[in-house]
Amino acid sequence: MERLFQIAIDGPAAAGKSTVAKIVSKKLGYVYIDTGAMYRSLTYKALAVGTDLNNGVKLQTLLCETEIILRQSESGQRVFVDGEDVTERIRYPDVTAQVSLVSSFQEVRTEMVRRQRVLAERCNVVMDGRDVGTHVLPKAQVKIFLKASVDERAVRRFKEEELKGRHPSIKSLKEAIALRDKMDMERTASPLVKADDAVEMDTTSLSVEEVVAGILEIVKKRRSI
Ligand code: C5P
Repeated sequence: MERLFQIAIDGPAAAGKSTVAKIVSKKLGYVYIDTGAMYRSLTYKALAVGTDLNNGVKLQTLLCETEIILRQSESGQRVFVDGEDVTERIRYPDVTAQVSLVSSFQEVRTEMVRRQRVLAERCNVVMDGRDVGTHVLPKAQVKIFLKASVDERAVRRFKEEELKGRHPSIKSLKEAIALRDKMDMERTASPLVKADDAVEMDTTSLSVEEVVAGILEIVKKRRSI
């Protein structure tokens, strides 16, 4: 039986991973899996029920009792926590500010990675996150590491927030992005790091179309091997 195709897209916060992963998955007819949305979902639930965010064992127990579903729909991927549509809610600043803490615990990551691998078992996937190429899907046929300057990432995030009717300062976005990167890179459990066999793409001065085209070219080459 032919092996399923896996595309891993990793990189720091707001580097454009989900934007390009969605387009690439659509063009190829693959399933898109946003692993960040899973960590955000647990963070949302922990905040809602008042779990101690500094206690990895309690967070792991909470996760075991929590159903997180990523559902593909006409309007894109929707995220459900215990049946509640939290697609927009998990992007709010309170969740964003705590998600790197919640995701730093090995207890939490072990269960998340188990679920992510199950999702990739039956379909061709494009999966984005921080540790997809290094831990979740180490045998992915295509591994991409997207990066961009902090300034550029803050401006991109600012534009996204504006579309949602929110107006944070660029300075506060820049600080939040830099802090999240630092926590994600310095944690001991599966830190954010480029996989040795990942292709690094600096998207600072590239358009979304250029990044997508670059990834599709790499996929094409790998599929013809
Ligand atoms: O991709 P997104 O910005 O939504 O991810 C939110 C947070 O979830 C990251 O800052 C990181 O702390 C965590 N995360 C992770 N591993 C992943 C995906 C996300 O630790 N594979």
